[in-house]
Amino acid sequence: MPRPLLKQLEAGKQFNRQAGLIPALEDFRPELAVTLPGPDRNAEPLEHRRAIARIEQDIDIPDLVQLGAVQRHGRAAQDPPGMLRGGKGWLDRRKCRFQCQQSVHNCHLPQPTPFGNLRSGRSGERYRVSTKRKIGLGIAGLLLMIGLILLAARDRLAQRAFDTAIEQNVGVDRSAALPDGIHVYVCGSGSPMPDADRAGPCLAVLAGRQGFVFDAGAGSIRKLGRMGFPMDRLQGAYLTHLHSDHIDGLGELLLQAWIAGSRGTPLPVSGPTGTDQVIAGLIQAYKIDSGYRIAHHGPAVARPGGFGGTAQIIDLPEGQPSKVVYDQGGVKITVIRVIHDPIKPAFGYRLDYKGRSIAISGDTIYAPDFVTAAKGADVMFHEALNPKMIGAMQEQLAKRGRADSAKIMADIPGYHASPEDAARAAKEAGAKALVLYHMVPAPPAKLIERLFVGDAPKIYSGDLRLAHDGILVHLPAGSQAVDYSEAF
Ligand SMILES: [Zn+2]
Ligand SMILES: [Zn+2]
Repeated sequence: MPRPLLKQLEAGKQFNRQAGLIPALEDFRPELAVTLPGPDRNAEPLEHRRAIARIEQDIDIPDLVQLGAVQRHGRAAQDPPGMLRGGKGWLDRRKCRFQCQQSVHNCHLPQPTPFGNLRSGRSGERYRVSTKRKIGLGIAGLLLMIGLILLAARDRLAQRAFDTAIEQNVGVDRSAALPDGIHVYVCGSGSPMPDADRAGPCLAVLAGRQGFVFDAGAGSIRKLGRMGFPMDRLQGAYLTHLHSDHIDGLGELLLQAWIAGSRGTPLPVSGPTGTDQVIAGLIQAYKIDSGYRIAHHGPAVARPGGFGGTAQIIDLPEGQPSKVVYDQGGVKITVIRVIHDPIKPAFGYRLDYKGRSIAISGDTIYAPDFVTAAKGADVMFHEALNPKMIGAMQEQLAKRGRADSAKIMADIPGYHASPEDAARAAKEAGAKALVLYHMVPAPPAKLIERLFVGDAPKIYSGDLRLAHDGILVHLPAGSQAVDYSEAF
């Protein structure tokens, strides 16, 4: 060790070499760690001198500078860096980590133990455990005890949770608590693209005591069941067009309407030309299953007459933009021609009940007839495709040699509305709220939703929302309110 520093340290009396200098040097140069006989003030000074002599040979100028800096700033007179003042000198904070600063009076240079640095080197004197540590150990013990109790009682707790869930949910008509008005169940907000969270396009509507389903994409009817839609109030289904992603849950809808809805007559399914073929195919596909159910549960429960569906082809002559297709019990449903070429015809719908109204676009580009028919609707449910996002997917597919998929991506923006188109339609129709409900690609996260809507918020200043499966939109009768809730 360079002489000037040693002299400085020895002469200055600021530094307790026995307990301070050596650990300080260890901080700077761990490889210089020396073992002292102990922190005893009366230890043989020769031992310290020997240790220091060893250090003298090894320490270099940077060490000197660092130690010198400590001295110059007068910090050695207080706590050297990394050190803690104890009753008999400075202690290495790292080695005394189990102690509070205020309780180090018995702390000497510690030696590791299996429980941490709890013992001093020579005397073996146990450090005083701090109050903080005692509290920590107490909490840990308490948690352990609670854990053991829960472990022992887990079967009883599981049974109780199950019983409560059964009591609260099974057979309960959750819609009974809804006020009179229109209630829209978003049972599917996805696209044809695979999505773990979103079913294919589906909106179910409860208007007063009557229920209707508009499109039934894959997985949507299970979502509808989970939302507590009263299947026994279902009056009919309405198809916007016959693209597979809008009807691939239709078979399940027919079965649920029949069994869960206790139907005695087939479900009326209204849609464009071809709807009859779809229904006939589904009846054929599920005929075997219907036989099983009738035989198993008996015809009093699985009423044979309630199986399947009755296709009702909507004929909307060219030149006629819309017409009323249902008008019963105060509920009026209007079919509207939309533009989804080459798929023809393609429909949107409007539903009115007690002064409240919704409009559903189905698949369309910006369609003036839809805007006209949707005029004054409280809520417009519109499809939307983000062309930039689909373009990016197309490029990526092309780069990876997926030419067919890239071609599909290139084709689809031509027959869908952009979010800006949807915003324009809502603005021109004067809708109070715009809900994008059939999104391509469906944004996988909230952050991406901002990207998806693009400039739509600049065009439409009303309440713009992106739907997700499980939300309900409420339009109470005798009110102007549009409320939202989540079923799950
Ligand atoms: Zn679609
Ligand atoms: Zn379509």
